[in-house]
Amino acid sequence: MKKILLVTCLIFSLLSPSFCKAEFQDSARVLGYSGIAFVGTLLIHESGHYVALKYLFPQDVNNVHIHFDTWPAKVSYYDHGLGTGKENFIHLSGFIFTRSAAETIDASNLNSKFASFIYLFTRFDMPRYVLSSALKQFIDYPHPGGDVHSVIKSWAPNENNQILIYTSLLTAMIVDIYFDRKEIKKHLSRIFF
Ligand SMILES: [Zn+2]
Repeated sequence: MKKILLVTCLIFSLLSPSFCKAEFQDSARVLGYSGIAFVGTLLIHESGHYVALKYLFPQDVNNVHIHFDTWPAKVSYYDHGLGTGKENFIHLSGFIFTRSAAETIDASNLNSKFASFIYLFTRFDMPRYVLSSALKQFIDYPHPGGDVHSVIKSWAPNENNQILIYTSLLTAMIVDIYFDRKEIKKHLSRIFF
């Protein structure tokens, strides 16, 4: 029963926060904001692929489209010869956009819970991909076409070397998060305190 109330609150609190009983207001807002931040991060990520394809390499591709009718959203294009280097850049352009969004939000110092939600989701976009791709690799689960795995595969066709790259990449992600720990804490405390 509590769950049904919470979901109803979540939907209505987006229209009017005062709809919910006080005890649910905060959780409903947290759920609502994280839902929007999650979808927003997907859009920012896909826009990275789209902008890179459409405006950086127009001579190598055509028919670039973002599809919102699939989940998650995907960018499709007709490739007439991008080559490995440019392909890898296209795979990384999603992360370039999400990380830039995170750093812009942090630098702009907006004191808003919603901005902090977007910060956290965009900041952890790449670590989330690296972690899920690494786990799939470690348990031997097929994962063709992922942004991270496509790049790693192009560097190292050999599976043992891929595991080595995944391990280094995971370590690099942890170090990167460690160096950003103050700003991550700042945004977490804006949301929860
Ligand atoms: Zn992507």
